[in-house]
Amino acid sequence: MEAKEQETPKIRKIIHVDMDAFYASVEQLDHPEWRGKPLVVGGNEARGVVAAASYEARKFGIHSAMSSALAAKKCPNLIFAKPRFERYKEISLQIREIFYEYTDLVEPLSLDEAFLDVTENKAGLKSAIFIAKQIREKIKEKTGLNASAGVSYNKFLAKTASDLNKPNGQAVILPEDAEAFLEKLPIGKFFGIGKVTAEKMQNLGIHTGKDLKEYSLQFLTKKFGKSGLHYFNIVRGIHLSEVQPHRVRKSLSAENTFEKDLITLEEMKANLHPIFEEVIRRIEKSGIKGRTVTLKIKYADFTLQTRSKTLEQYPDAETIWEVGLELLQQEEIPKPVRLLGLGLSNLNITEEQVHFGEQLKIPFEGK
Ligand SMILES: [Mg+2]
Repeated sequence: MEAKEQETPKIRKIIHVDMDAFYASVEQLDHPEWRGKPLVVGGNEARGVVAAASYEARKFGIHSAMSSALAAKKCPNLIFAKPRFERYKEISLQIREIFYEYTDLVEPLSLDEAFLDVTENKAGLKSAIFIAKQIREKIKEKTGLNASAGVSYNKFLAKTASDLNKPNGQAVILPEDAEAFLEKLPIGKFFGIGKVTAEKMQNLGIHTGKDLKEYSLQFLTKKFGKSGLHYFNIVRGIHLSEVQPHRVRKSLSAENTFEKDLITLEEMKANLHPIFEEVIRRIEKSGIKGRTVTLKIKYADFTLQTRSKTLEQYPDAETIWEVGLELLQQEEIPKPVRLLGLGLSNLNITEEQVHFGEQLKIPFEGK
């Protein structure tokens, strides 16, 4: 730890992506007749809780974790949609695939939120702001849903930033602006300061970041225990927690970047074969099977394309090769190719553990 602190830490580029009113937006997407109308996802009026509220419902003061009965009272025409978690999970996995196009350092917080560390990224892009914009566009294109994003140099600030221009917006907090920004921020808006702590702080006369900054570490530790150090740090824009990927293996793949760009189809076929053989080796070693075959093509200008086909049954090696060739030839290859990859997904193993309860905002107190 000490050795780590002595090095000048590299400035990270962190993005927090957050879907807008996720469950509610999915329901409006799938039920056009509900679009533009106040809607909640959750249990019925008698004894349920609101899991998510559309923006139209929020105008009536309805928010998640509110009882459905109270929500119905606030808005007589409120639509109650039954949650369809399988559908939300399906979209969540689609969104994550987009994240993984840029980085493997993805830390999901729930089905609709994740931190991404794009300091080094697969697209070779320098601007995290540009990556966030691309990701939001791809999410819209692939799912029809809006996402917001925050960009900064640590998770705490990225998370704070993603809220600033919601819905369907993004914001950046630059290192040189962080402290001034936090001084103005109401204490209840600090990520990691829950309702209870915010009240406690307000009773001490701490209403904004500026107020918080006036207290010593000693005082904050005395009042808030271990979390005192966290509060002392975050108000100074310091948050050292890294993006922790806990990705379960969801695909089996292999790829290769070629020394010389490939031009002809024959070259591509010849170079795809050893990649295919590597995939087969991995399948045999792991015993994992997958129904979706994906061909990844990166062009000499670094643009990326994937082509997939999902089969009824788990394909054998020969079929995987045939599908790989089919995908390679299904469309013209418009420019020289620098990388080819082949992978399988839709695996015969549990792909991911998802905790649906996480969508309800549970105050996160310290660390
Ligand atoms: Mg959200």
